[in-house]
Amino acid sequence: MKTRTNIKNQESLSILGFGAMRLPKIGKLIDEEASEKMIISAIERGVNYFDTAYVYQNGKSEIVLGKILAKGYRDRVNIATKMPPFMIRKTADFDKIFNIQLQRLQTDRIDYYLIHMLMDVSTWDRLKGLGILEWISEKKKSGQIRNLGFSFHGTQQEFLKIIDAYDWDFTQIQYNFIDEFNQAGKTGLLYAASKGIPVIIMEPLRGGKIVFGLPKEVDKIWKEMTPERSVVEWALRWVWNHPQVLLLLSGMSTQEQVDDNIRIADIAAANTLSIQELALFDKAREIIREKTKVPCTACGYCMPCPHGVDIPAVFAAYNDKYLNNKGFSAMFTYMQNTGAMTKHPAYASLCQSCHACEPHCPQSIQISDRMKDVKDDLEGPFFKPIAYLGSKFMG
Ligand code: SF4
Ligand code: SF4
Repeated sequence: MKTRTNIKNQESLSILGFGAMRLPKIGKLIDEEASEKMIISAIERGVNYFDTAYVYQNGKSEIVLGKILAKGYRDRVNIATKMPPFMIRKTADFDKIFNIQLQRLQTDRIDYYLIHMLMDVSTWDRLKGLGILEWISEKKKSGQIRNLGFSFHGTQQEFLKIIDAYDWDFTQIQYNFIDEFNQAGKTGLLYAASKGIPVIIMEPLRGGKIVFGLPKEVDKIWKEMTPERSVVEWALRWVWNHPQVLLLLSGMSTQEQVDDNIRIADIAAANTLSIQELALFDKAREIIREKTKVPCTACGYCMPCPHGVDIPAVFAAYNDKYLNNKGFSAMFTYMQNTGAMTKHPAYASLCQSCHACEPHCPQSIQISDRMKDVKDDLEGPFFKPIAYLGSKFMG
């Protein structure tokens, strides 16, 4: 496994980090056996950075990762986890959450600790008001936190302000070829790097959207250039092509993904894509931008909806209609995605515009407005009668 050096502390980190946000599941539970195989096989091949969060998989991600690493692997890897600022209401909450995390992860220290989804500088100011600076300095002194950073979703302007607001040890941003100019974007990456702050990349495949559901035209332009290179390889190599990137996180759900990502990491390097290859990304980005209706990454942070809407599933079907030029069949995909023919439908028209979901969306999507668009587009006059007949037919 290739490594890059953390410019702030000179540690060697594997260029591929294991994102434990999408560990495999059986039903609603994490498949611990499959997760263990994947995680150990990644460690044995040199992956030394594992990223989780207090809220991932309802806290189970930290628990399962802790259990696996406790089998003799803890000291071979770096653990990154995140504090949810939206759950910090008083000073005592810092310790309360952090101690639960140490317990779940079965460790005495967190190597890379992040403020989760810091979207604006006012949230940082609120945490400062609760004494986070004193708390961090005490945790660093005791060695319980080795590096402090923040993960970011928000506007570029806020990112630059947050970067300037503290002497961060690292930052984590969403970055992929589609988002080169979204959120922190390339400007944010270069700015952080210019200040000597290492940058970790999340969502290099935009939650899998880059793999599944890209328009056929995009596949075609890449296949014409290098037929043997997969979309995943194109997308990951684009991220690693940036020398300012310390490592990228891939939220792996299968052994095949682990194997493939490691294979690609072995051949990727900074500044290796040619000018002709980079030009293809511009073309692909244009095609995708024109066709994507809602920039949802299926992260699920907006869930659950109190009125039963499956928000990411609704947007996935909506985007699918335009990305893949689906005609009438788009409604059936939408019906399937939203369980329209079951006792617990989760389609857009159930939205009551309560806005409860919107503050949680890292992509700043105006979810309730977009639900109306989806309803108008995909729930025509025959939608509910067809769903009703379908449900009767299926018993
Ligand atoms: S705005 Fe709509 S989708 Fe969002 S939580 Fe409220 S009802 Fe659910
Ligand atoms: S709507 Fe926003 S929060 Fe919800 S899944 Fe999509 S990107 Fe995530």
